[in-house]
Parts: sequence; C-alpha cells; structure tokens
Amino acid sequence: MSGQTFNTFLWAWIVLALALAPIQFRVTAPYGRHASTKWGPTIPNRLGWLVMEAVSPLVFAAALLLQNAPIPTAVWVFAGLYLGHYFNRAFLFPLRTRTMGKRIPLAIVVSAIAFNTVNGWANGYYLGSGLADYAGWIADPRFWLGLFVFFAGAAINLWADNRLIGLRSRGETGYAIPRGGPFDLVSCPNHLGEIIEWTGFAICCWNLPALAFAVWTAANLVPRALSHHRWYKEEFADYPSGRMALVPYML
Ligand code: NDP
Repeated sequence: MSGQTFNTFLWAWIVLALALAPIQFRVTAPYGRHASTKWGPTIPNRLGWLVMEAVSPLVFAAALLLQNAPIPTAVWVFAGLYLGHYFNRAFLFPLRTRTMGKRIPLAIVVSAIAFNTVNGWANGYYLGSGLADYAGWIADPRFWLGLFVFFAGAAINLWADNRLIGLRSRGETGYAIPRGGPFDLVSCPNHLGEIIEWTGFAICCWNLPALAFAVWTAANLVPRALSHHRWYKEEFADYPSGRMALVPYML
C-alpha cells in the first residue's frame, strides 16, 4: 500500500472517531454497569473481554512481523509497549475481574473486534513497513517524553483498575464508592490513565496510526467516564461532591 493511501485511510479513520463521539455522549456503550439486554444476544463477560482484546496484539504482531523488514530498536520498544499493554488488557485483566454471572452484548464484542483489528493492523503495518525511518529515533526527545507519558498513564490505569477490582470480594458483583489516590479527584482515573497512556504512545512513535489510536481512545473513554460519573451520583446519595468525572478540577 502506498504511503498516501495509508495516510488517507487513517485520516478517514480519525474523522470517523470524531464523528461517532457525539453519539457516544448520548448512547453509553452497554457493558459493565451500563449493560443492557436491549442490545441483542450476550456472551459471558470474561470471555467477551478476552476475545475482543486478544485480537489487537495478535493483529499488531502479525502485521509487524509478516513484512519481514528489518526492525530498528525504537520499533522493538514500541512493540514492547503495545504488546505489554495488551498482555494485561486481554489476558490478565479479564481473568482478574470479579464478574461472575455478568454478560456482555455480542454487538459490543463485534464492534470492539473491528476497532482492535483496524487499530492493531494500522500500527503494526506502519511500524513494519519502513514507511517511516526510525533509525536513530531513540536519540530524539519525543521518544523519551512519549515513553515517560506512556508509563505515567499506564501506572495510573493499572493502579485504578486494580483498586476497582479490589472493591469486590470473590462472587460479589455490586458496586461501591472507590476512594483513595486519584479517586479522591476523579471518578474514572483508569480511563484518564488509558488516555494519557496512548497519548504518550503517540508522542513516542510520532506517527499517524498511533495518533489515531489516541484519538479513538479519548473518543471512547471521555463519554464513558462522564456516564460513569453521572451513574455514581445517581446511585450513591453520599457520593463525594467535589469529585470530577475524568480530569481533576476541570471535567
Ligand atoms: P470500569 O471502570 O467500568 O470497570 C473496571 C472493572 O472494575 C470492571 O470489572 C468493573 O465491574 C469493576 N468496577 C468498576 N467500578 C466499580 C465499583 N465502583 N465497584 C466495584 N467494581 C467496580 O472500566 P471499563 O469496563 O470501562 O474499562 C476497563 C478497562 O479497559 C479500563 O482500564 C479502560 O481504560 C479500558 N478501556 C479502553 C478502551 C480504549 O478505547 N482504549 C475502551 C474501553 C475500555 P463491572 O464490569 O461489573 O462494571
């Protein structure tokens, strides 16, 4: 594929994320606390997460490696970040969640598979294609700044997901008010961390597919965090009034 075709596709992909964002603000994706039977057939939650998230690292690795091009050091680092994140998200996170008896609509799983396929392919393909020259990139300040931002976001995301998982004992499926650390400032530090993480990845890689992933992540998670925040306030009369949804003191 020519560089121009690839870039045109990715700009269209970014525009689609932005075009769908207003819908995501009005219609909350029906999984987790917002799950609904109105969205057709469902499958067990854990299985759904495993299947839909495993697609991303598999497609990324195949798209990167099957081109048989020489891979510079920086690209190995990008691959490590991407695959490390998805090792947790696809395999550790679903196995650790306390999700007994919960189900996820097949429609969510299928749309996540589509998102993860495009995303994994675009990032893996670009990095393995030689369309960009990453020789010597590890000496560039953007590489290190992006790495720092990525790890800061990942730390917030992992810590917050871990805290949420720990709110339930085995077999429980209810909800409690999360407290401590960034939860004292915002309702969804896990979503904030994820957005920071992929913004860091985009800075580190400095390419269009990574930017597209960061835009899609924000387009998915800003509306979701606002929905979670509204839900907490409706559900718990004693929900901390000063807490914001996603960004401390702002949003
Ligand atoms: P949530 O915060 O809704 O849930 C995370 C886990 O914690 C779930 O198992 C949930 O259970 C449980 N949980 C959440 N809040 C509570 C509470 N108050 N009391 C008890 N248990 C709780 O996260 P999401 O499901 O939205 O996302 C999961 C991860 O995936 C996040 O790290 C997110 O950043 C990431 N993600 C990334 C996307 C992207 O586009 N890059 C898109 C979507 C998610 P239950 O499922 O039963 O509600």
